[in-house]
Formats: sequence, C-alpha cells, structure tokens
Amino acid sequence: MILPDNSELELPEGATGRDAAAAIGPKLAEQAVLVRSNGSVKDLRLPLEDGEQIQILTTRDTDDPDALYVLRHSSAHLLAEAVRRLYPGVKIAIGPPVENGFYYDFDFPEPIAEEDLAPIEEEIRRELDEGRAWERQEVSRDEARRRFAEEDEPYKVELVESADEPISFYTQGDFTDLCRGPHLQDSKPIKALKLTGLAGAYWRGDEKKPQLTRIYGTAFYSQKDLDAHLERIEEAKRRDHRKLGPQLDLFHFSEHSPASPLWHPKGMVIWNELERIRRRENLNRGYHEIRTPIIYDEKTWWTSGHFPKYEDLMFKLEVEGRPWAMKSMNCPGAMLLFGSRPRSYRELPLRLAEASPLHRNELTGTLHGLLRVRIVTQDDAHIFCTEDQIQDEIAGCVDFARYTYELFDMTASAELSTRPDNKIGTDEQWDRNEAALERALALNEIPYTIAPGEGAFYGPKIDLFMDDALGRKWQMGTIQLDSQMPSRFGLKYVGPDNAEHDLYVVHRALYGSFERFIGILIEHYAGDFPFWLAPVQVRVLPVGDEHRAAADGIAEKLKEAGVRAEADERDETVGKRIRDAEVEKIPYVIVYGDRESEESLAVRERGGAQSTQSLGSFIAGLPSAP
Ligand SMILES: [Zn+2]
Ligand SMILES: [Zn+2]
Repeated sequence: MILPDNSELELPEGATGRDAAAAIGPKLAEQAVLVRSNGSVKDLRLPLEDGEQIQILTTRDTDDPDALYVLRHSSAHLLAEAVRRLYPGVKIAIGPPVENGFYYDFDFPEPIAEEDLAPIEEEIRRELDEGRAWERQEVSRDEARRRFAEEDEPYKVELVESADEPISFYTQGDFTDLCRGPHLQDSKPIKALKLTGLAGAYWRGDEKKPQLTRIYGTAFYSQKDLDAHLERIEEAKRRDHRKLGPQLDLFHFSEHSPASPLWHPKGMVIWNELERIRRRENLNRGYHEIRTPIIYDEKTWWTSGHFPKYEDLMFKLEVEGRPWAMKSMNCPGAMLLFGSRPRSYRELPLRLAEASPLHRNELTGTLHGLLRVRIVTQDDAHIFCTEDQIQDEIAGCVDFARYTYELFDMTASAELSTRPDNKIGTDEQWDRNEAALERALALNEIPYTIAPGEGAFYGPKIDLFMDDALGRKWQMGTIQLDSQMPSRFGLKYVGPDNAEHDLYVVHRALYGSFERFIGILIEHYAGDFPFWLAPVQVRVLPVGDEHRAAADGIAEKLKEAGVRAEADERDETVGKRIRDAEVEKIPYVIVYGDRESEESLAVRERGGAQSTQSLGSFIAGLPSAP
C-alpha cells in the first residue's frame, strides 16, 4: 500500500482497509471510518489491491465530504431499522446519503405526518444508545431475491434485479439491507442526528409508479457541527431571495407568466449596475457588442446541434407554415454573424458579446425563484480564435471572471472538465487544450478541481463557482472551448498563407445569467447591498411639514451629485420612517429638522452609526462605485 505521505505499508495478501489501519496503530483502527483510494471511497471491510494508494479517513475528519457521506449513509440504515420496528407492514425502498444529509423512501401502510418524526428519531437514538455494528456479506442474486421476497419487500426485490455484482448485504442488529456500502464500522461516531422533514417521492422518480414517503435527516460527528448546520439553514431562510426580493420591491413573479420575473424599478437599478460593469469591462477587454434574433427556424437548431439534445427545453412556434424555436442559447447568432463574410486571421481573436434574453422551458418541478427561471439573460460572449490563441483567450476569460467575482467580495473557484469517452479530435489536441485551461486557472491563482470525463465531446470546459457569505458554493459562469460548432456552421478563416483554416470558439458567461446572479447577490448580502448596488442610497426625512422643501432640496442636490436619493414625506412619525428605511436596508438616512441645514446634516448610517456633516463633506465621503 502507498500512504498519503508516500510511505509504503507492507500487508499480507487480501488485507482490508481495517487491517491497514490496524497495522498503522490501534487508535487509527478504532477511529477509521472509510478508505479513500484514488479519489473514490471504499469500505474498510474490502480487500486492498497491491500497490493501491490509500488514505484512511477517521472520526476526526469531521468535515470531509466523504467521511460525512459514510456517516450519513449508516444513519439512513438506522432510520430504516427504526421505521420497520415502529411501523409493521411498512415497505422499504432506497436510502442514500445526499448533500447535507440523507433520506430513506418508505411505503407506509397509513400516511404519516411531521409529528411522527419525533418518535422515529427517538427510536434511532435508542439504537444509538444500544450501539450497532455493521457486517458486510456478499450474496448471490438468487439468494438476495429469495431473502427480500420472504420479507415481503417488493422494492428491494426489484432493486436486486438491477444491482451490480457483487451483491452485498449490510446487517446491523436485526436489520439487513441490500447495499453497496461503504459503511461505518459501528454507530459510535454518529454523535448527532436529526430528522429534518418529509416529502412525497415517486418510486424510481417515475410519476407512473407508486408514491412513497421520503424521510429526510442529517447527521454529524459532533453536536456542535449539527447546531452550526441548523443555524446555517435558519440564516439561509432569512436570506432567501424569494422572500427578500418582493420585500425589497425588486421583482415579483406572476401566474400570468410562471417562472419569468417582473423586474421592479429598484430591481432594475441593480440589473443596470451589473450591465454597466459588463459593458465597461467588455469594452476594456476588447469585446464587441452584437445583437441577434430571439427566434430562429428549426433548421438553424439542427445545424447548431441544439436539436435534438435541447429540443424539449425550447419553446417552439410556427410562423407561415415554418417551424421555429425561441433561442435557449446565443451561439447560432454569433456563428451566423461571424460567417456573414470571409474572415482574415488579422481579425482574430474576435470577441463578440451579447446579453439578450433566452427562453428555456424548464420543468415546473425544477424552478426555483430567480435561480432557475424560464427567461435567462446571459452575459454571453463568443470568442473566435486560432488554435495558437486559445491559451491567451482562456486566460483572459478567467482573469475577467476573477475580476468580476471580487467586485462582490466572493471567492472564485473552478472545476475543469476533461475529455469524455465520446470525444472528437486527437489526444494531442486534447492534451494541449486541457493544459491551456489548466494553465489559465493556475496563472490566475484560482483553486480548481478536475472532473475527469465531464467535458463536452468537442472540448474541455471550466465551470466557475463562488463562495458566498454563508460559505455556500454557487455555480456561476462557464468557459467552454469548442471547435465543433464553427465547423457545423462551415466557418473558416483565411490565414497568412491565403488558405482557409479551422477555427475555435470560446463560449463564455461570467455572471452566468443576470437573473440567477441577482438572486445569489440578494442572498449573499442578505439584501444589505453595498452602497454602489443599493437601489436607494440615501433617504432624506423631513421632521415636519415645514422641513419638506429643504429636504427636497437636499435630495435634489444629492441626485445632481449622482447619488440615488429620495425624500420620504409620508405623514408618519420620524421613528416609523427611520424603521422603514432600516427594513428597506437603505445605506444612509438624513433626518432634517429645525436644527439642520446644508452645513449641518444629521446622518444615520445603516447599522446605527450617527454623525453630523455638511452636505459637501457627506457627498465627498460616499464610497465610489467600482
Ligand atoms: Zn445503504
Ligand atoms: Zn455559445
């Protein structure tokens, strides 16, 4: 075996992960939960291979995703054991770990409700007090089928049919489950567990099949971690953009056009700030803006390759007997524009930017506020370049992305997707192109992981992520290298040798889409936008009627200075109007009464700080927009 520090460990033939842990030390053997081998996870009970590189994860790897995965998988089995004991006649289906927790699907004889979760959780706690250990056993398909038929578990019988060999059982106490593993050695590491909710779920995700009851839960290596997790959930609810958006008067959704936001004036202020930055940076970085049609005839989509792959995602219509579709991506427009006349190598790289609305017929079940909508406005661009220019162009995109995300105090990270099995092009091309993307990430010091085989068949891609204020990772833009689409549209360029050459295109979007980006920003800032993004930056409150004219004058002067200011002249008390401004998260409030003048303003900052300043020094001290 090779250990993470590159030292070697000699073990007899057939030794398991647990044997390896024991050979290193008794403490490690006791705390071991999982073997990680070449990026995948392996049960401690399984034999290791000669020369295998292994890492043994333990109960101290409390926030390692794989260590949590195995803990939660074992917790799901405890849940199934508890439910079977409490509800005779229940049928069990599947129970995998998922992000942030686990679930198990059941077919209950009688429906259960939220309040039934507490007694189930109590029963799991009892199991934990008693202690459980997992045993792994390999069985034949016949034996597995026979066992679950005897136990009258039809879902398991069905799963046995499609299970990969070797088929294994895991047993804890009197409960045996069909399972590939891996599992904990025993239940001691499960220090904190909570059932978090109930939902309906169709068997195998098929709405024609029986509806089952899904019980969600989560588990951690310590109570402290569970508490922190639950607190994060509360905080995320508080920041939910679906709640804050309408509350801050930024946008709303209407049943008249489901999943397409109606942007209110204040929401458009944020949108336009993003647009201002997009335009300016495109200009600074040598892009040209274009605008292309929203609908194209279906032939175009066959040429681009979007049909039939994305056909279901597209809104279709018929005009003058011809079939059309609304664009779900901007690519064809850029291709047609590039191909509108012969192109010389002297024009390359040609960077064409377009942010027009795209329509995608997302399924109702997948919609989520601004994060998944049916109208998507990408900050898109297509960069046409030669093979020699790929490196610089990708590096330019990565630099642009990092610049953009840093404006919002978010940390960028990336995932590099490499050649899939069905790739086109030679290995040498892929070596060169993947290396170009990797160098661009390294050059910009953006941390990245590699997703082997996840690239599109025509080229590798970079997916960009941002960590928000809650430490959540959001997928943002993509940078995708492609030689396929230019050739589908018959695009070439004339080189210095006067001959035609193939060219590459880089598809890239950095915000991803305006809609999604604004949704994420609302949650990232919890609605407390930095001064430059705040829809209303300063509100002036006249104390009495006699102060209105002066307050208006102050607001006007602020506007002349480029500040988004307004006066609140409602017949409400000053206290009420200050509180409203706080709820609306306005960065500065100026209260104007008898004692105030342009030379001496009472300024309240968001967060409570107060000061007295002249209008001139207040304006001079305001943060400038990036
Ligand atoms: Zn399992
Ligand atoms: Zn594209």
